[in-house]
Amino acid sequence: MNQQAIETILRDPSLPFAVHELAWLSPSEVPFDARVREMCASNRCGLYGKTWTCPPGVGEWEALRDECRSYAHALVFTTKHVLDDDFDFEGISQSGVLHKQLDRAIADALRAQGISHHLYSAGGCSLCKTCTYPDAPCRFPEHVHRSMEACGVDVGALSRACGLRYNNGPQTVTYFSMILFP
Ligand code: SF4
Repeated sequence: MNQQAIETILRDPSLPFAVHELAWLSPSEVPFDARVREMCASNRCGLYGKTWTCPPGVGEWEALRDECRSYAHALVFTTKHVLDDDFDFEGISQSGVLHKQLDRAIADALRAQGISHHLYSAGGCSLCKTCTYPDAPCRFPEHVHRSMEACGVDVGALSRACGLRYNNGPQTVTYFSMILFP
């Protein structure tokens, strides 16, 4: 695996949005916590039980942790978005959409270069207008991006583990993604 080539893809100015920070760490250092997963059950985001990328459809968090740790390298990256104010909920939502667009563009670019990877995103999958869960298998299993929190990743602890800023200051929102490489 060529880390430099991968970072070049993430820094490509033609991407739909800029990566703010990135850092490499060992998948064994990615912090999983059952309490993160338990918070999903409160369904604050409204996606619990609605997609294959969120609990319970995404699978047991221990199995997802073990799958993560079977990879050789992890790359974490963030996007930083400026809001009108700290209560700009529409801006927060639109920023999440931009982050997911960047995820897709990065995954497409990695695939185009034949770089095997598994990308974990921020929040549940919104690829299809209506998810097939739970009645039929996922339509695009090769393109689906699981939610990091849904897998039990403690994103705050992850930011500390890899030295990335969890919060980029007032009137901003920061989103995280993680890419695993064999
Ligand atoms: S790709 Fe479609 S079917 Fe698969 S999890 Fe996402 S929304 Fe659901």
